Amino acid sequence: MDLFEYQGKQLFAAHGIPVPSGEVAETPAAAKGAAEGIDGPVVVKAQVQVGGRGKAGGIKLAANPEEAHDRASEILGMDIKGHTVNTVWIESASEIEKEYYASVTLDRGEKKPLVMLSAVGGVDIEEVAASQPEKLARLHVDPLVGLQPHDARWLTFTAGIDPEAMKGVVAILEKLYAAFVATDASLLEINPLILTKGGDVIALDAKVTIDNNALYRHPDIAELQHSVTTDPQERMAHEKGVTYVKLDGDVGILGNGAGLVMSTLDVVALAGGRPANFLDAGGGSKAEEVEAALDVLLSDPKVNALLVNIFGGITRCDEVAQGMITALDRIGATLPIVVRLDGTNQAEGLELLSQKAPSNVVVEQTMLSAAERVVGLAKEVQSA
Ligand code: GDP
Ligand code: MN
Repeated sequence: MDLFEYQGKQLFAAHGIPVPSGEVAETPAAAKGAAEGIDGPVVVKAQVQVGGRGKAGGIKLAANPEEAHDRASEILGMDIKGHTVNTVWIESASEIEKEYYASVTLDRGEKKPLVMLSAVGGVDIEEVAASQPEKLARLHVDPLVGLQPHDARWLTFTAGIDPEAMKGVVAILEKLYAAFVATDASLLEINPLILTKGGDVIALDAKVTIDNNALYRHPDIAELQHSVTTDPQERMAHEKGVTYVKLDGDVGILGNGAGLVMSTLDVVALAGGRPANFLDAGGGSKAEEVEAALDVLLSDPKVNALLVNIFGGITRCDEVAQGMITALDRIGATLPIVVRLDGTNQAEGLELLSQKAPSNVVVEQTMLSAAERVVGLAKEVQSA
């Protein structure tokens, strides 16, 4: 789970990492109000989960509350790399002397946390790693020993951090590592970590990814799930408890079991189509799960045609057919739906569909013929 910058900064602050004070706003008027509560100039920052907001015009300085109002009205509603800005973060502007980079990630290959530090910050770190690898200090940490003070000092010397910033950077590295462990994070990144003209070291940006499988241990972070899921289908899937991943094609996919869904994606691609999603209704799907899955898929305007590929093992094909009929009755969708039902109670399922399903539902016998059919139908819809 990825947090927004302002949520990341609040998490940093809770772990003792210095950040500028600020407030969120969803309207220009609220942005003005937030700026009134802050002494001096502010920065208006677009809250979207994508990097490079600065270059895209999503970060602007404002000298006073009136300017904060105007900058916020420019930034709110903006599209940054496909993400719409619904929220801005208003924070006290910093006077930057130097920009550094600091992060802790999990290196799965080494089975250890990896701490990285660079005196070249505020820029794309992948670029630094590729063109000037010597500028990026890297240290794997033994998880049983933790990051020791001498490790943090070694990193600052190796990265070439300015002497006046060393104490502050060492302190932040230690806190960043502690926060990484405490929150079950898989990434904590500060880019830029700055030295201010006043000589303080503070986190000016925050990128935080928390391991989804550990969220049950962090109810306070898990609570943020709703606010960070901005895609309507992803939100719906989360509420309904179905496994859903959005892709960029136009053929909706519904299957039961991750393996079957993955091979369905492959077969659709083989037939020349582009899947719109990955939706696994789960092994042993009942009518309700199928209904919930269809709700999610049919609410996506990008889906031109739907492929339902079910293998009945524990799942019964008649249950699946019943779920489809109930959902389609209620939603009244007209897009083409191709169904391949195979396995337990297949005959009963197909019989139900032929009696009660609307005419936009067609049945195919094999996975390949179903994929070819749905790809053809999606193309017809697209060109219509
Ligand atoms: P990103 O572009 O999405 O990574 O957003 P950042 O929060 O990292 O900001 C990008 C850049 O904007 C930073 O590297 C700074 O150069 C600049 N910036 C952000 N906040 C401030 C600020 O308070 N004062 C000044 N002078 N520059 C800022
Ligand atoms: Mn940044």
